[in-house]
Amino acid sequence: MPELPEVEVIRLGLTKKIIGLKIQKIQILSPKSFIGNPNLAQGKNVLKIWRRAKLLGIDLVGEKLLAIRRSLIAKSKKLTANSEQQITLLFHLKMSGQLIYIPSEKRIASSEKRFIGGHPTEDMLGTMPNPHTRVIFTFSNNSHLYFNDQRRFGWVKVIDNGQLAIDNSLKNLGPEPLEKGFTWEVLKQNLLRHKSMPVKVAIMDQSAVSGIGNIYSNEACFNAKIDPRTKVGDLTDKQFKSLFEGIIKALKEGIKRGGSTRAHFVDPEGHKGYFLDYAYVYWRDKHPCKMCKTEIKKIALAGRGTYFCLHCQK
Ligand SMILES: [Zn+2]
Repeated sequence: MPELPEVEVIRLGLTKKIIGLKIQKIQILSPKSFIGNPNLAQGKNVLKIWRRAKLLGIDLVGEKLLAIRRSLIAKSKKLTANSEQQITLLFHLKMSGQLIYIPSEKRIASSEKRFIGGHPTEDMLGTMPNPHTRVIFTFSNNSHLYFNDQRRFGWVKVIDNGQLAIDNSLKNLGPEPLEKGFTWEVLKQNLLRHKSMPVKVAIMDQSAVSGIGNIYSNEACFNAKIDPRTKVGDLTDKQFKSLFEGIIKALKEGIKRGGSTRAHFVDPEGHKGYFLDYAYVYWRDKHPCKMCKTEIKKIALAGRGTYFCLHCQK
């Protein structure tokens, strides 16, 4: 499943491609993958793309509000009154979701490339739509955004902006680890709800800290030099601080390296994601630790592959 860094890489890439474009048509090929009324989003323009935890939001507004926003941005002013309904398309890619943007033929002719994010498959570089395409967004310049999802756990939801804060998928999320309000004390306080849980499992609880899954929890524990099996209740303040720093480092490194998805993850510009070449422990069992050459060990914790160095992590 894409974690915070992979979704952030998609956000950064999509932002370069679709801001300002108007959604002309939405075709829903799988009703299970689409929640809400597509008519609310059709005819609206992409204003902004944001990320919360592992979710991606695309804010849409009508022409009039877009023009007002632009003139205010030009004058460095903020819009105060919300005179027109704002709509958000919220995406959760889950296990096998992909977002694939294909520019119009005209744009391809002027060498604009397709971009791809999410779960890697061979067919993501092929013709679209394909048998795993669930929703097609057609923009008024004839570019397309395809939401593909082999296993159909992922979804797109149309939400009125006023309802966002109370949406089930967002309301129980813990703090954003890369934002200012997140400190080691906040991390400690939230994790202590799970005193008897192994630390590596506890940091994947989305209500304690959001956006961390199996890859970055392994890497964060390595960065912090903490044995992933250590119970939260046994951590010292010094270890909570190290864990905090280890989480930030792992996530930032993931974003910098263009995401992590194994094998052939392709970032929004079509480059391969190389984070796993830089990972210290994840998917490196039986390989030598990059710090001390001890063989990386793999065990299962709460059913998930857990990788660590017995020498570096105590
Ligand atoms: Zn080591």
